[in-house]
Amino acid sequence: MAPERAGFWTEIPQLTRAIARAMGVTFRNLLRRPITVRYPTVKRVYPDRFRGILALTYDGETGEENCIGCRLCEYICPPQVIKVEMLKAEKRNYAKTFTLELYSCEFCELCVQVCPTDAIIMLKSFDLATADRRELLLDKDRLHALGLQFEPSWATGNRLRDMQAPPKPPKPAAAAAAGAAAPAQSSPDRRAPEPAAEAAPTAPSSPDRRAPEASEGAPTANPE
Ligand code: SF4
Ligand code: SF4
Repeated sequence: MAPERAGFWTEIPQLTRAIARAMGVTFRNLLRRPITVRYPTVKRVYPDRFRGILALTYDGETGEENCIGCRLCEYICPPQVIKVEMLKAEKRNYAKTFTLELYSCEFCELCVQVCPTDAIIMLKSFDLATADRRELLLDKDRLHALGLQFEPSWATGNRLRDMQAPPKPPKPAAAAAAGAAAPAQSSPDRRAPEPAAEAAPTAPSSPDRRAPEASEGAPTANPE
């Protein structure tokens, strides 16, 4: 018992310091202004790269739906919450039906990344809270309406693919300019053809090489 009591008394300073530290944090925050935002009356400005709920887009010039019903987004979606039915038409295809179960969406953005026509995008908003799950089953009309209602995020499929693509090789003109500049600096490059010229003298040596073959043939002929 005695050693246990000794341990308790020796830990008292440590305990006091811990309590003082915790109370210090409490008092510091007592003096701070509240940071609670009274949403939805007050809304914070979203960061530039914010990506929230999904939507479908229209072509800004023609006013046509951008979706061509290719179903790439449906195939790539990990939780399989997208369903698309293609409508084939004369000039282009459309999505006959397009549904997205937002309540099961992981917001992974893969559907946006694969879309060839930037038809599906994410919006700078998450403002779709509801008490009824069924309201989060979004059909094509609802997805288009959301696209018009909220600000789109910067990230479209084409932009994201450009960012992820490997660096492009230099253009031919730039490569030619670089090639023209290189010989002026490095004479060894100009001498590069010389080995070929030097190879010429070696060419006669090939008949020499063949000569032994002929001579090799002769000896074999002689014994016969
Ligand atoms: S963000 Fe991900 S989970 Fe959500 S619909 Fe697109 S691919 Fe599916
Ligand atoms: S949203 Fe894009 S990827 Fe999905 S079906 Fe339409 S065009 Fe294809």
